[in-house]
Amino acid sequence: MLPFNQADAGFVWLVGAGPGAADLITVRALNLLQQAEAVICDELVNRELLAHCPIGCEVHFAGKRAGQHSATQPEINALMIALASRGRRVVRLKGGDPLVFGRAGEEMQALREAGIPFEIVPGVTAATAASAAAEFPLTHRDFSSAVIFVTGHQCAANTAALDWSALAKLRATLCFYMGVRRLPEIVDNLLRHGMAAETPVAVVSEASRPTQRITVGSLQEAARLSAGLAGQPALVVIGEVVRLSAFAAQLPQLHAQAVGSDALA
Ligand code: SAH
Repeated sequence: MLPFNQADAGFVWLVGAGPGAADLITVRALNLLQQAEAVICDELVNRELLAHCPIGCEVHFAGKRAGQHSATQPEINALMIALASRGRRVVRLKGGDPLVFGRAGEEMQALREAGIPFEIVPGVTAATAASAAAEFPLTHRDFSSAVIFVTGHQCAANTAALDWSALAKLRATLCFYMGVRRLPEIVDNLLRHGMAAETPVAVVSEASRPTQRITVGSLQEAARLSAGLAGQPALVVIGEVVRLSAFAAQLPQLHAQAVGSDALA
């Protein structure tokens, strides 16, 4: 089942811990935690999960939150490599899915260069947790046939990196990670590039946790949806599919024509 018995020489698992609820984690991830000798845990991971680690397992916190970096990426890479080089079975536990805005690309590269074997265990990413919480689909055959995961982080410093014109016109579902602090800029960019002001927006914070909060509005009023959320993990979803949520009852209903032939022309 699991390659733990092959791990005598040290092995790293890059493991998705899911979006927050302690039981939204894969069985494989849980099995690995139960056998881990060292865990390097990210900030957004539910700490309850660490109760599954065996006694004697060393736990390192590599919290990274906007504005306060408690461990740099090179330090985390070095720690993983050092632990695995000592023969440890290392679980690198990351919020959501490790391959979605999780810096797993950099960690894989560092492990490859160090000759450390590794495996990736996917997890439930924030976008799917948020859409499940707010009860709308990310795709719908009438309204959206593409989903785009976008980082909101780069908007100010690196505006050129995002093709706002394409994002505004694709009629895809846009999922902004790390987008709350820059929501006014995101909205402004999309409006300036022609996205309809009535496009619905959902902001879901702490999806899957008891503290989860869901607010829905239109693009032109979206900036206020992020009020009071500074510092909390929140996902911003923009697209017609949001109208299918029961939380969007106050929004005008979808018109079948929304993504009809003339809309696509
Ligand atoms: N690898 C993670 C994403 C890491 S980036 C994943 O796959 O989900 C961190 C961002 O993810 C946060 O700023 C927030 O935008 C989003 N996020 C993480 N957990 C969340 C949650 N429970 N609810 C809403 N958004 C969340």
